[in-house]
Amino acid sequence: MRRPRASSSNRGSRAGAAPPPEAIEAGGLRALRRALPDEVILPPLALLLVAALCAAYAPSLPASLAGLQVLGPGLALALASAVAMWFNRGRAAVLAVSLLLGWAGVELARGPAGFSALAAYTAMAVLVPLNALAAFALPERGVRFRRDNRWMAVVPVELVLATWFAAAGSGRRGYALLEHWALRSPPTPLVGRIAFAAAFVAAVWRAWPRGARTHVRPLDAGLACAVVGLFLACEWASSPGIWALFLSATGLVLLLAVMQESHRLAFRDELTGLPSRRALEERLHALGAAYAVAMVDVDHFKKFNDTHGHDVGDQVLRLVAARLATVGGGGRAFRYGGEEFCVLFDGLQTEDALPHLEAIRASIETYRMAVRAQTRPQDARQGAQQRAADEAQGAAQKLLSVTVSIGLAHKVAEDGYLTPYEAIKAADQALYRAKSAGRNRISE
Ligand code: GH3
Ligand code: MG
Ligand code: MG
Repeated sequence: MRRPRASSSNRGSRAGAAPPPEAIEAGGLRALRRALPDEVILPPLALLLVAALCAAYAPSLPASLAGLQVLGPGLALALASAVAMWFNRGRAAVLAVSLLLGWAGVELARGPAGFSALAAYTAMAVLVPLNALAAFALPERGVRFRRDNRWMAVVPVELVLATWFAAAGSGRRGYALLEHWALRSPPTPLVGRIAFAAAFVAAVWRAWPRGARTHVRPLDAGLACAVVGLFLACEWASSPGIWALFLSATGLVLLLAVMQESHRLAFRDELTGLPSRRALEERLHALGAAYAVAMVDVDHFKKFNDTHGHDVGDQVLRLVAARLATVGGGGRAFRYGGEEFCVLFDGLQTEDALPHLEAIRASIETYRMAVRAQTRPQDARQGAQQRAADEAQGAAQKLLSVTVSIGLAHKVAEDGYLTPYEAIKAADQALYRAKSAGRNRISE
């Protein structure tokens, strides 16, 4: 194993402190680009775009392949429903299942009997976006029927009512209802268009980053795109080819969104947004011949938890993570576990990685983290009294300073016997030396 050099560094200075993480996040289009990564928004958009291009330019299917117009949407929507339920994703399941049932109803009612086909289409174009709207308005509680999501029973009730109306409502009153200006179709009836617009706004509202969440999640982006895909299908429902294309694309968007979300949950740390330890393990196997590894540990972290509560402890972890995410030199930060992080520099040696880590260490040291008053009010009256007292004293917020210690090790081609795990161990030992030497420093 490479013999560690007994050097340490503590060159932080208060001048030239990096901007706080909130300032890094802010800033118009760049903020939107940050909040909506390509890998989240491009796949669903690409699926919808392919459907639109096929709808516009692809020749219609030969009669022998006409079955694909049923097979495509049926398969995509059935798969999306099954995977959403299996992975316990409530909103995706509501959208996929009600869409599958609505689509099946429209296909079954297709034929010379005009009334039932029109009734099935109207029911789908109104009820599916309303179900989506309800799903976005209510909290996500998974699929399994518990007290809080009994409302989902509304989907089978809708199915029964729509089937009954399509089968038995073809009297004068039934026709009058479907001819009403608010329900006249196709294309999408006015009530349906309003429901689609409301569902889309609710989907964007749900997806919008807020609080500790700085990025749009793939599932939320996929659900918003699925609402758009379904709307396009309903608008062009009179063309069986376009209807089938957009419904298939919507099913695939839902399926992909659930899969992408599961991948994110496995490989991203929810608290800090950094890649998780599992992602690090994968990355370790793909490192080149030379690399540097840094282990980063928050100093006296337990003190933040004990003095200010776990919320503030979590805030500290997010602050450190946001700084580490901006490390230069091609470094990639991972949450290793607890208050420990790992930074990999593929192709760099410790000398090259050191200045980048030093910049991060100094920026964490100089940043002052604002926290709210420690004592939580018992009730609204006490909260108001506390706020008034805080304002009177101008002391609503406390400023905390955080420091980190860093251990750094590297591997070069000629040290072929150092595996990535041994490099991490060497970095851990260097971290231990940084702690013993007084913390808030980098040791090699
Ligand atoms: P040192 O300077 O030697 O590193 O001391 P330390 O207090 O930072 O280290 P110690 O290992 O004693 O404490 C780590 C604490 O981190 C203990 C654990 O409760 C807390 N912790 C681990 N994960 C989380 C988390 O996700 N959120 C919060 N708030 N605390 C966490
Ligand atoms: Mg630790
Ligand atoms: Mg620590």
